Amino acid sequence: MKKLQMVDLNSQYLDIKEQVDASIQEVLNNSTFINGPQVASFKNNLATYLNTNHVIPCANGTDALQIALMALELKPDDEVITVDFTFAATVEVIQLLGLTSVLIDVEEDTFNMSITALKKAITPKTKAIIPVHLFGQCANMEAILEIAKEHNLHVIEDTAQALGAEYIFSDGTSKKAGTMGTIGTTSFFPSKNLGCYGDGGAIFTNNDELAHKLKGIVNHGMYKRYYYDVVGVNSRLDSIQAAILDTKLPFLDTYNKARQKAATYYNNAFKNCELITTPITSSFSTHVFHQYTLKIGAGKRDELHEYLKELNIPNAIYYPVALHSQKAYYNENVIEDNFANTNRLIEQVISLPMHTALETEQLEFITNAILKYLNNTY
Ligand SMILES: *Cc1c(COP(=O)(O)O)cnc(C)c1O
Repeated sequence: MKKLQMVDLNSQYLDIKEQVDASIQEVLNNSTFINGPQVASFKNNLATYLNTNHVIPCANGTDALQIALMALELKPDDEVITVDFTFAATVEVIQLLGLTSVLIDVEEDTFNMSITALKKAITPKTKAIIPVHLFGQCANMEAILEIAKEHNLHVIEDTAQALGAEYIFSDGTSKKAGTMGTIGTTSFFPSKNLGCYGDGGAIFTNNDELAHKLKGIVNHGMYKRYYYDVVGVNSRLDSIQAAILDTKLPFLDTYNKARQKAATYYNNAFKNCELITTPITSSFSTHVFHQYTLKIGAGKRDELHEYLKELNIPNAIYYPVALHSQKAYYNENVIEDNFANTNRLIEQVISLPMHTALETEQLEFITNAILKYLNNTY
């Protein structure tokens, strides 16, 4: 059996080695390391794939979120609502910009932004909402967009974990994750659904004016060479990363299908185990399984985690601590009851190996080990 890994980047690389190597070699031959033609090509191809008007590449997914917020020109007291159960980048950038982050609970079944909590959290100071399409499926965007419209709020979709997922509106139309709100952001960190071989990110919008602003901010606030109109940052996707991404983009749907296939295998294997709750796919979104995350009942999660470690079966707890309980984001006025779902999830969730090269033999080994352990201890 091939070595088990949480994410197997090497197998994926070897499958397309010739194409990737050639695309990198081309950058080396031309030595257009920054802003080469590969960046423009990838940007246009991604915009076509997403069916969005503008894609602005940048250095990573965290910068993408920060730059998106900068473009909205929020003021120090403004509140930005995001979820308590996510990677820290989302809340970090809100605080870095001196804005007030308002963390809210998630839905217990989908791990995505709770609509009830969102309605409760809105105040006259609220200016933006950042839903995170966690683990590969979209948050309830129809509800979020409706609330945003009613209160005149911006919506930034953190699509770092869900590139390629589709949202299905109640009228039957669908849109790609990241293209429904005011601005969408993503990350091309190597383990993401579309990963480069270093750091990378991008920002999406359909709004021409915002696109213009964003393009300036990623480049020091410079619109005309050496004239600075706004305070910007230096955040670029380099040509080598763009070349790799442009080569990989045509495979994104195939990669996501491979993830879905592995998820289906896991789901079927676990369906009769009472201690396991397999991931729920919402009726309004496809799921591209950035993570395959189980909930383990009867307080058995930590034991299972240790047991799998002993067997060298990779697994991870995403996320072990709610953001509202982290030292950096702790607030003494916090009401724990408002985070009932997150507080439960951090004790129950466990993520299993998920990538594009999982073989049946590996899936069988992982699921058998988990079932054997849970069935014996129950
Ligand atoms: C990975 C990730 C980010 C940050 O992306 P980087 O490219 O690592 O900066 C932001 N938000 C979420 C939800 C992520 O998973």
